[in-house]
Amino acid sequence: MKILVVDDSITMRRIIVNHLKQGGYNNVIEAGNGVEAISHMAGVDLLLTDWNMPVMDGLTLVKEIRKSPTFSSVPIIMITTEGAKAEVLEALKNGVNDYIVKPFSKGTLAEKIQKVME
Ligand SMILES: [Mg+2]
Repeated sequence: MKILVVDDSITMRRIIVNHLKQGGYNNVIEAGNGVEAISHMAGVDLLLTDWNMPVMDGLTLVKEIRKSPTFSSVPIIMITTEGAKAEVLEALKNGVNDYIVKPFSKGTLAEKIQKVME
C-alpha cells in the first residue's frame, strides 16, 4: 500500500513516516503542500494530510482530490492541530474519511488507517 504524507513541517512528516514504518507501511512518499501532493498522487492508496500549509492548504487539497476523476476515491485522513468541532465537521463534509488531532499516538494512527482501509 502506497501512502502519501503531506505536511509543511519536515519534523511532523518524519514523525508520521516513522510511525508508519514501525507499523509495517514501508511504501511512503512525502509532500510539503497541496500542490506538491497533487503531483505525487499517481498510485497512492491512502493520503494523510495536514490542514495548515503554504501554497495549498489541506482542505483545498481534499476538495481538489474529491473533484478529480482519477483520485476521487482515495481515502484521506486529516492530521492537524485544528481540533475544534467546526473544523472537524468542515473537513468531514468535504470528504475526509477520518480525522486525527495532533499530538497523536502511533496506536491512534494505526487504528485510523485500519478503519479507513476496511
Ligand atoms: Mg502545517
